[in-house]
Amino acid sequence: MRLILLGAPGSGKGTQGARLAADLQIPTISTGELLRQAVTKNTALGVMARGFMSQGKLVPDDVIMGLIREVLDARTTDGFILDGFPRTIAQAEGLDELLGGYGLDLRFAIALDVAQEKVVKRLSARRVCSECRADANPQPDGSPATGPCGNCGGALIQREDDREETVRKRLMVYDEQTAPLLGYYAAQGKLTRIDGDRPVDVVFDDLLRLVRGDQA
Ligand code: AMP
Repeated sequence: MRLILLGAPGSGKGTQGARLAADLQIPTISTGELLRQAVTKNTALGVMARGFMSQGKLVPDDVIMGLIREVLDARTTDGFILDGFPRTIAQAEGLDELLGGYGLDLRFAIALDVAQEKVVKRLSARRVCSECRADANPQPDGSPATGPCGNCGGALIQREDDREETVRKRLMVYDEQTAPLLGYYAAQGKLTRIDGDRPVDVVFDDLLRLVRGDQA
């Protein structure tokens, strides 16, 4: 099973990708997470990517393609979920070519649909663990989670790029550069759109039905 999760920042790709990966027992590859790790470790990639990320801009395609090629070359299984990649038509074309070289192809491109105002709210309330990087669910009234991480006890922080001004920029970039991928994958007959503006469990049930239906 090879699938990609598409959707605006804050549409639930990370949360749903992690649950789906656990269920299908395949890894999730998140370019955003790989870049954040590189930034934390201050590697050459991290130093290069940091400025783009903090301004809500995309890291250049050639850098991202180099990163993905490295990760896919080192993979231990032919099944994986791609979260946050591809984000441009050039990356999607690069991915098709890369997979073709391995004799593989993509089964699904799943888009999580959530209205823009909802994702702005979600992202400004999002907190992540500074240790294990897990997302902490907001409180029932929508305010940010407080206290230590439920997984590992680490401190919860706000991602630098989740500040409202940067979120708006990221959404603009999404509309301009990433939303065209919906048409790209629709033309390949691979696109499924799922209403992501529902409780996490309900969205996950839909995802499972889709991928399990395919495995049946
Ligand atoms: P994410 O966690 O997926 O929202 O990614 C955080 C940031 O990392 C994005 O706003 C971009 O600056 C950068 N990034 C992640 N994935 C990509 C990608 N596929 N192409 C370009 N930039 C990316």
